[in-house]
Amino acid sequence: MVERPGLWRRGWEWALDWIYPGVCAGCGETVAGGRGLCAGCEAAMPSIEAPFCGMCSEPFEGRIDGAFACPNCRGQRFSFEFARSGVRRSPEAMAWIHQFKYNRRIDLGRDLARLAARAFVDRRLERVREEGWPLVPVPLHWRRKGWRRFNQAKEIALPLGKELGLPVKDVLRRVRATRTQTRLSRKERQQNLRGAFRIRGAIDGWPGAVLVDDVLTTGSTVDECARMLVSAGVQNVVVVTVMRG
Ligand SMILES: [Zn+2]
Ligand SMILES: [Zn+2]
Repeated sequence: MVERPGLWRRGWEWALDWIYPGVCAGCGETVAGGRGLCAGCEAAMPSIEAPFCGMCSEPFEGRIDGAFACPNCRGQRFSFEFARSGVRRSPEAMAWIHQFKYNRRIDLGRDLARLAARAFVDRRLERVREEGWPLVPVPLHWRRKGWRRFNQAKEIALPLGKELGLPVKDVLRRVRATRTQTRLSRKERQQNLRGAFRIRGAIDGWPGAVLVDDVLTTGSTVDECARMLVSAGVQNVVVVTVMRG
């Protein structure tokens, strides 16, 4: 399903551009068409390309033939099959995500979704589109809920779903507050997250699910979300993020 803006919508966007032209979050140039990044800044973002970790898509320098896992993932068991990010870690991508999350640049959601969509060059994600797997936003972190009024993962998942023609199903809820994760070991993180999420809504008959978030760091949160989906009967769960953190 490709988005075909109608006449009204185009007129509305034209009017909005005229009243309030967008400003590129990268270079500050004026941008039209409801964009938050200019074409130049967007194109300058390096995609994740081989070789990278088959589990978390952390890029590696040099030549490696065949499948391999990075030191972070080696010997680990995750509930998701693999996680794939669209772009590499860079100061620019980090700054855009920061503006999006903390500086009310909610308009950047569409631009970040286009960066996340680059992950779909990965042939392992072909069946996601063929079988129409739903996109599931990772629920908002409890600490942010008070003052940030939106869930960044959902604001990326919605335009991403539109671009790829996939449904977005916001079925995960965070039901319990968790301690901050940064100083915890992997095992402590897992225990900390147990019971933090619930599934609300029907997931019967899903061929699989794609968890969507802005950044993949340790993978503990998405792993717990994946565990919930798998234990509720979703056979295959993969993760797609904008950036590998
Ligand atoms: Zn720019
Ligand atoms: Zn890895």
